[in-house]
Amino acid sequence: MTRYKIIISGGGIAGLTAALCLAKAGHRVNVSERSTAPSALGAGIQISPNAFHVLKTLGLSGKLLSAGTAPSAIMMMNAMNGKNLARLPLGFYIEDTHDAPYLVLHRADLQNILFEACDAHPDITMTYGAKIIDAAIHENGATVMTERDGSTNEHLCDILIGADGIHSCVRHDILDLPKAVYTGKIAWRALIPANQVKLSGAMSDTYVWLGSKAHAVTYPVRNGEYLNIIAVTQERDEAKAKEISKDKLLDKFAHWSDDFKALLELEADWSGWPLYETRHIDCMAERSVALIGDAAHAMLPFAAQGAAQAIEDAAVLSKCLSTGNHKQDALKAFEKARLPRVKRVVKTARRNGQIYHLSGIAATARNLGISNNSGEKLLAKQDWIYRWQV
Ligand SMILES: Cc1cc2nc3c(=O)[nH]c(=O)nc-3n(C[C@H](O)[C@H](O)[C@H](O)COP(=O)(O)OP(=O)(O)OC[C@H]3O[C@@H](n4cnc5c(N)ncnc54)[C@H](O)[C@@H]3O)c2cc1C
Repeated sequence: MTRYKIIISGGGIAGLTAALCLAKAGHRVNVSERSTAPSALGAGIQISPNAFHVLKTLGLSGKLLSAGTAPSAIMMMNAMNGKNLARLPLGFYIEDTHDAPYLVLHRADLQNILFEACDAHPDITMTYGAKIIDAAIHENGATVMTERDGSTNEHLCDILIGADGIHSCVRHDILDLPKAVYTGKIAWRALIPANQVKLSGAMSDTYVWLGSKAHAVTYPVRNGEYLNIIAVTQERDEAKAKEISKDKLLDKFAHWSDDFKALLELEADWSGWPLYETRHIDCMAERSVALIGDAAHAMLPFAAQGAAQAIEDAAVLSKCLSTGNHKQDALKAFEKARLPRVKRVVKTARRNGQIYHLSGIAATARNLGISNNSGEKLLAKQDWIYRWQV
């Protein structure tokens, strides 16, 4: 097997997981991250069995289990009257079905677990404050340009991996691929201290609230210290994400049940996140460059799979680069293995969003359809996502 020198642009979930998978396979990896220190924006994250399996192969299962919570169920709620439509079993049920837990975590905890593992690995170097600004791609590899502390440096590598998120420099500026587009939806996110939350079950289960042209998801993080809340509305202008106040939020959800509105009344720092999607997912590898995570396939978060697919990408890329095949063939094999699956997941997330945001009579039919099904049957629709293993 050839031992490659690899540069990864971006030290998010995709970049750090890829560094660990590739170093485990014997490659030498440098992660260039534009932020000056490890950080994780956002609040909670759900890690499904398909992603957990990969992280377990990296020896991280113990740390994940102690940082995360395994909710016992997903409660599908009618957001208008606060009634439960269905209970999808997680907890032991999903562990028995997929031989892995369904965890919810604080993003910073996941990022920190990955960072510590990278930091401890002798074949991984992490360079913070180093922004990738350009690269010349040639048949043997890439000459990558970084900007750090006001100066520009060049680095040679065999392979460049773009793991630099939705507005990826590797995707747009180096490979000249189309940008991810705003989807007309904004996610409003906050962490609420658990001692303020009165809604029974909220600190042990995941709740999905289905409204009209809006939905919300809540789950506990930090071993029940906080309730993570994500409420999604349709907004024509993404700049609206900056206009946030408790009153504005209460106004958007004025017709929702009192149980849900009581959560919005609690003290919390809210932030608005415009949601983006990659519309043309046709390229995940070109010459000596690979794209993973949001840089390759930004998706709506309505299947809770953006990070999970990034984690899968990392495992498959490392597997393909460790077969002994020629580098270009290995990168093309990676692309071939990933494209059909990520396209299907992106489509599923989009479709979930359409269903979650139905209104009028279609919303009534949706709610009836959910309550007429068993939770096990509803959950089984995700089996093709969760049962994946590298
Ligand atoms: C509201 C919401 C809820 C979500 N919930 C879930 C969930 O429950 N489960 C799930 O699996 N997914 C979820 N996702 C999706 C998930 O957050 C993303 O898919 C995932 O974080 C993508 O990781 P990434 O490493 O590809 O990108 P990012 O996390 O964006 O990381 C990219 C990194 O690259 C760095 N960078 C950018 N440009 C450069 C450059 N030029 N040079 C160097 N560094 C650079 C950035 O600073 C950043 O650190 C959710 C998303 C949202 C918005």
